[in-house]
Amino acid sequence: MVNAEFEVLKAKDHLPSPKGMALKIIQLTLKEDVTIQEVAHAIKTDPALSGRLIKMANVLMSYQTRPIVSITDVVMSLGLSIVRNVVLGMSLVDSSRDGLCRKFDYQNFWSKSLLMAIAAKNFLEGRRLGAAEEMFILGLLGQVGSLGLATAFPKEYSLILEKVGAVDSDATLIDLERAEFGLDHNQLTKEMLADWGLPQIFQIAALHHENPALSGLAEGNRHWHIMNILHVANHFSTACLSHGQQQHKMVSKLIMTAARQGLEADVFTELADKTVQEWRELSKLFGIRSAEIPLFNHILQAASLAELDKLDDDGAPEISLETCYALRILLVEDDYATAMVLKRLLTKAGHTVVTAIDGIEALTMLDKFMPQLIITDWHMPKMNGIEFCKALRFNELWRNVHVYVMVAQDNLSRTGEIFEAGATDYLPKPVNSKVLGARLSVTQRMVQLQGDREDEHQQLRTVAAQLAASNHRLQQMALTDVLTELPNRRHANDYLEQQWAMAERSDRPLSCMSIDVDFFKKVNDTYGHKVGDDVLKHVAKILRSSARKQDMVCRYGGEEFLVICPDAQLDQAYQYAERLRQNVAEENGPLNLTVTVSIGVASKAPALLNAEMLLQLADKRLYIAKEMGRNRTVGN
Ligand code: GH3
Ligand code: MG
Ligand code: MG
Ligand code: MG
Repeated sequence: MVNAEFEVLKAKDHLPSPKGMALKIIQLTLKEDVTIQEVAHAIKTDPALSGRLIKMANVLMSYQTRPIVSITDVVMSLGLSIVRNVVLGMSLVDSSRDGLCRKFDYQNFWSKSLLMAIAAKNFLEGRRLGAAEEMFILGLLGQVGSLGLATAFPKEYSLILEKVGAVDSDATLIDLERAEFGLDHNQLTKEMLADWGLPQIFQIAALHHENPALSGLAEGNRHWHIMNILHVANHFSTACLSHGQQQHKMVSKLIMTAARQGLEADVFTELADKTVQEWRELSKLFGIRSAEIPLFNHILQAASLAELDKLDDDGAPEISLETCYALRILLVEDDYATAMVLKRLLTKAGHTVVTAIDGIEALTMLDKFMPQLIITDWHMPKMNGIEFCKALRFNELWRNVHVYVMVAQDNLSRTGEIFEAGATDYLPKPVNSKVLGARLSVTQRMVQLQGDREDEHQQLRTVAAQLAASNHRLQQMALTDVLTELPNRRHANDYLEQQWAMAERSDRPLSCMSIDVDFFKKVNDTYGHKVGDDVLKHVAKILRSSARKQDMVCRYGGEEFLVICPDAQLDQAYQYAERLRQNVAEENGPLNLTVTVSIGVASKAPALLNAEMLLQLADKRLYIAKEMGRNRTVGN
């Protein structure tokens, strides 16, 4: 359909096309057996064209130190196909400086096209993506379809431009063009370029450059790059030729679009100024008007980069959200535009991103932000990515954090240094969203696994702590009497053995008291077992509070208690025992009952060979106390 429309236009000879001498030269270059000499000879017959071509060649090949001085030189240096296309471009400019379409500004069209041509050439050169001279032609003719429509349908197109001018929207222009002519200016550009024999990669770039998101081209392949360079060049030329608020908005967006192509702000600014300068030179050669354009840096400052944050969605590529495990990502990048592009990409994919402008700043942000992934540029002022990586790995806390270092194409052979510095991976710059997405999904999985392992560890730690606590409780239970909460007989025996051994070793005194409640059976018999228990608790409490801190008061059995008194001589222990006995006797128990105890006191002495014998002696004296009438202490 589009092709059919084009064939009709072409058949009617309504489209801009090379004429006269230019047409002859173009036809000549298309002959299979043509020689450079033949072409050079043909060009020389037109001195004006020769002069322009030589100047043109010098601008296009400005990177050459040796100036081009002859037409033969031009043809040899540029090659037949570029010469042909340059002649084509010049001829088109010459033949369509003006026309019948009232609302179509022919001068402005060529002025902008030339700026776009030089921009495309320089941006491609800045990215080292191949033949920059050819890119010039693509830039120059990348929107020739608009001129085509203006030439073929001057009246109708004028009306459309008038309508669109009021709304100022590309979408409307394209819709109107399609409705009126059956094809839009981009489609016509593609057909015209195809007709002139320009390579397919240029036809596709021209067709999609106004809206790369719709191209369906795979991010990162050569077609995609060429289309996007043309997109940036178009954007750049439009921005340069616009003013005020509109220019500011365009420039902010432009700087990010360029960064996405790997043209960082400083490089881009340099190329922009070079482009404007070359544009002013070449426009004289083409007889096209140009304008004073301020240094790009000034435009950029006026636009204020802070505006970048406010930009709406710009159709940039996205990372797949499918396997998203949200990460905390610290992005370290000195180029503001590149940082913004990446931050958006990552934020859109659901991650939390903070940025730092170099390694020094990044180091100060670690503890607060606790990143799970760090993406750092290599070249940065103050502390570069490699030094930063080394600093990270030096710190125990950050030894295992995932780190990607971004590497410009020129440095891809130096990735070894990155891994030596301890990085996890590298990311070629400009960052391809698919490559980044693939790297991220690996990191997400690893961070998740690390997290799971830490959870498991935490669980184990909790269980271990619970076990320790319950073991401790069990131990306590095994050593404690349930009724009185005093240490039980087992505990008492262990402790006595232990104290005996210590007393032996250090030759220090050790005493113990065997205590028995008097007439306890009667309490039970008269008031019941429950009151008996309460009396035992009552006695236990008084004994515990009357004894010294270092003495161990135990329930030894039924209504018998044992008090172990380290470092106490017999007479001291006797006094302590008396105090205990009196305290019990003085304080009435449950139901106001009077409760008394009898006590036998014994101390470690040479005649006693072990703890057992000490106990037996205390028991013996307790028995004597009972015999003597109870409620008394016997110590010898
Ligand atoms: P004595 O003055 O000679 O020591 O006379 P007693 O009645 O205190 O001595 P005896 O050995 O005849 O009686 C001790 C009683 O203590 C017998 C037992 O039923 C009681 N008894 C032992 N353990 C407990 C206990 O845990 N709770 C209660 N309520 N009674 C207990
Ligand atoms: Mg950098
Ligand atoms: Mg007893
Ligand atoms: Mg008793």
